[in-house]
Amino acid sequence: MVTASYIRISVVVGFLAACFCAVFSDRVQAQAFTTTRLADGFDIPVGKPDGAGYYVYRGFSPYGHLGEDWNGNGGGNTDEGDPVYSIAHGVVVFSEDYRRGWGNVVIVRHAYRETNGQIAFIDSLYGHLKVRSVRVGQQVTRGQLLGTIGCGPYRMYAAHLHFEIRKDLRVGMRRDLYPKTYTTYHHPRNFISTRRRLRLEDRLVRVPINTFQKSNPNRVLTSAVDVPEVSTQQASTVRPVVPDEIESVIQEETKPESTAPEKSRGLLDMLFKKK
Ligand SMILES: [Zn+2]
Repeated sequence: MVTASYIRISVVVGFLAACFCAVFSDRVQAQAFTTTRLADGFDIPVGKPDGAGYYVYRGFSPYGHLGEDWNGNGGGNTDEGDPVYSIAHGVVVFSEDYRRGWGNVVIVRHAYRETNGQIAFIDSLYGHLKVRSVRVGQQVTRGQLLGTIGCGPYRMYAAHLHFEIRKDLRVGMRRDLYPKTYTTYHHPRNFISTRRRLRLEDRLVRVPINTFQKSNPNRVLTSAVDVPEVSTQQASTVRPVVPDEIESVIQEETKPESTAPEKSRGLLDMLFKKK
């Protein structure tokens, strides 16, 4: 009798466990992965493949500018409408007009093999685009057109490409939630220049998708902006013409007070307490 009820309980528990696993694994596998071609190397996103005719107007800096601003040598808006290319094979994980501070944004997810032999993933982000030429879920190849260089929402910037490389696949448009450091980001040019040519493997690999914050409503008001930064080094080429009034608009839009009221209040409190 004891044995019989024990078996019955075991069967019931086993059945419940099986159901749970089925539901759980189904949920995990249904949406969590897709496949994409392993990158065979990385290129500069403008003036492909080496960035010919373009220069970095504003570079990457932790806690400051989390990407690079690429400009045409002609300065001003001479590069508006120029093609922007995928830096490597990958799959599009974001493509929309995010408006505030960003405008049209495309994010491509790439899989590549690190020098230690491991498969690694990064997201490349292309911001302020005039037009987007790809949609979410689309497979793209190295050098494929993603869109064109634009001036951001309401033409608030002189035309340029804002370009980021993230090693943390959760960031998406919520830069405010993750460290603004090398833990989260790669220095774009350094990353690319050390991985121009990777071993040709021509194979598909599994990449995680749907990794961005689900509580990510469109057009969040925090941190979805460029933080202006004073560059200390003179560029040898022509700098874009940015009228003063446009700069003040950017300053206003990117002020911590206007983008993250709670955070900046906390910061002020901290400053006052210190004194
Ligand atoms: Zn930028």
